Amino acid sequence: MAGVKRARLLPASGAMARHTVNAIDDTAPRHTSAIQDGRNRAGMDQTIIIGSGMAGIACARALADAGCPVRVLDKGRGIGGRMATRRVALPHGDVTFDHGAQYMRPRDPAFAQALAKAGACAWPDGSDHGRQVGMPGMSSVVRAMADGLTVSQQTEVTAMVLQDGVWTLATDAGDLQAKRVVLTIPAPQAARLLGPLHPFAPHLARVTMDPCLTLMAAFPPDSARPFVQRSDPAHDLAWIAQDNAKPGRTDSAVTWVAQASVPFSCANLEADTDDIAAHMLRLLAEVLEVDPRHALYARVHRWRYAQAGTALGQPFLRNDDRRLFVGGDWCLGARAEDAWRSGRAIARDILEGANAQ
Ligand SMILES: Cc1cc2nc3c(=O)[nH]c(=O)nc-3n(C[C@H](O)[C@H](O)[C@H](O)COP(=O)(O)OP(=O)(O)OC[C@H]3O[C@@H](n4cnc5c(N)ncnc54)[C@H](O)[C@@H]3O)c2cc1C
Repeated sequence: MAGVKRARLLPASGAMARHTVNAIDDTAPRHTSAIQDGRNRAGMDQTIIIGSGMAGIACARALADAGCPVRVLDKGRGIGGRMATRRVALPHGDVTFDHGAQYMRPRDPAFAQALAKAGACAWPDGSDHGRQVGMPGMSSVVRAMADGLTVSQQTEVTAMVLQDGVWTLATDAGDLQAKRVVLTIPAPQAARLLGPLHPFAPHLARVTMDPCLTLMAAFPPDSARPFVQRSDPAHDLAWIAQDNAKPGRTDSAVTWVAQASVPFSCANLEADTDDIAAHMLRLLAEVLEVDPRHALYARVHRWRYAQAGTALGQPFLRNDDRRLFVGGDWCLGARAEDAWRSGRAIARDILEGANAQ
């Protein structure tokens, strides 16, 4: 639909097509053929999920496993969202950095089971054996969960309109239509997409998300490794992890991920990334007692919406006819497990609604 400028929600008309679906079952076989054929005869998608992070993929996985056609769109280059892993080529060999989520400590046994199925394994650091990490990177977990799903990366949704019971999404790859849309993007981005007059706007406005400036730095393999991880909320570098110490990572360099504190990140969010990388590298080198000039690599990633400061307090938002859902970690908390729970709760609600018809 050409000329879509801003999002608005019109009253839905027409009943949702009746189709029988199954309840969520982690042990059910995956219906990849139904997923790959996620469009109906009119060329319209049944459900489009915006966001291929943990929430979007958890939702898509549960819907697809229940035989419900679904398609996922994401503006980023790779699946995973904030479960992010960057690969960098260095003279000693390739290295990777988990520059988003560091690890998961599952509370819900079903989440632990989903992580195990997605190839996650323990990251024993001497003090805590409950930490799980993706193999060989954090993004691998979400990629494994997305196996067989229809996911279109580098596809940004810039506007969405509901008219006559059909959603039209304006994307940089052209317009797409769907019966139902599930937004699993950070709350401030969802608020922008839906617009200030949308009924969800006041709920989204209650959610706050903190930024995080994250340094990725590599040093030669023979350089100091004084610790595996260090947490000091009062320090400008509130969390520092030796990333190469995680299982399955290459040891061709000593790689560090340092997350700035919330006050430091807020104060320096708009600073030049090269300047802030140099500054954070000096701070890291002080802590490690190494010479910053020996660094093989140092870059900063600016997470504008890293983790929820104030969560919504319920697993998702939806309209009455179940044509629009909004979810993500920020609904329930600040962690990957919260994203997974939100995505699964949305899928469960969609399936319940479909079965009730
Ligand atoms: C620095 C940092 C450290 C963290 N540490 C931990 C940790 O140790 N343990 C833990 O459990 N959690 C941690 N988290 C939180 C964890 O990463 C998140 O809770 C989880 O990954 C959020 O998943 P999500 O699917 O809700 O959102 P996201 O992962 O943000 O996924 C949203 C997706 O939507 C896409 N998108 C946005 N707008 C559009 C659009 N208009 N069109 C198309 N696509 C769009 C984005 O590209 C993104 O891929 C950390 C996060 C950060 C940033």
